[in-house]
Amino acid sequence: MVIVHSPRCLEYSAPGHPERPERILTAAAELEESPHTWLVPEPCPEADILRVHTAAMLRDVQIGHYEDVDTPHFTNIYELARLSAGSAILAAEQALAGTPAFSLMRPPGHHAEHNRVMGFCYFNNVAIAVAKLLAENKARHIAILDFDCHHGNGTEAIFRGDDHVLFVSLHQSPCYPNTGLVSLENCVNFPLPPRTGPAEFLHAIDDALAKIRTFAPDLLAVSAGFDMHEDDPITDMALDAETYREVGRRIAALRLPSFIVLEGGYANAFADCVATFVDGWESP
Ligand code: ZN
Repeated sequence: MVIVHSPRCLEYSAPGHPERPERILTAAAELEESPHTWLVPEPCPEADILRVHTAAMLRDVQIGHYEDVDTPHFTNIYELARLSAGSAILAAEQALAGTPAFSLMRPPGHHAEHNRVMGFCYFNNVAIAVAKLLAENKARHIAILDFDCHHGNGTEAIFRGDDHVLFVSLHQSPCYPNTGLVSLENCVNFPLPPRTGPAEFLHAIDDALAKIRTFAPDLLAVSAGFDMHEDDPITDMALDAETYREVGRRIAALRLPSFIVLEGGYANAFADCVATFVDGWESP
């Protein structure tokens, strides 16, 4: 698997914030223990962002003109958010060229809506990559699988009603942001009760993958969050790192061109979860 990563994503932090640079630093160190091809992304052009976000929001991220208590402003965040989106695009292009690719970057993206910064997310990385491939006719049908513990409200809002996209999300409910309770149009939601364990979660993953198989996409985008781990400090689920090995194995078994974009995951076990997911993907 190709790992798309720039150490520049470590260049912002807020004291006490769970979305901290150490997450990525430790995950990168674990992935370096196995042979992978590493690629360095470039910040994406504004035109790519403007397919899914408004010009007003883009400007607000530049100058810090937004209100979300979870999502602080940093002087360099506009460039680093463009770098994270550029990384998702590079991962998607690798997938189309035949190699699965994992964008190991921050900030995450799946809560960012069309016109709203939200939940540690500035620009919606996976949505920017998917919208670009569709606009450029590089893919006609793309499925997005989101297994972050929190519902990908931004991705759902951006693609709801778009027949070229299937959005499938598994998430804890009730939990922030308290969306994704029912399935709507092209958006299929699997709300899971708190304390869901490995067996029930993998059963839900199988149901989600069956929906994707039926949709028969040209490409699969994965919003990968690892915050269903039992030790995660901001959620209440009961997976372990080994569960993510099985998640990787089962998604890879679809044999679709695929790219993965990192979302959340805040436990000390985060790096293990990422490494076992990648290992499971590569060892079917
Ligand atoms: Zn999350």
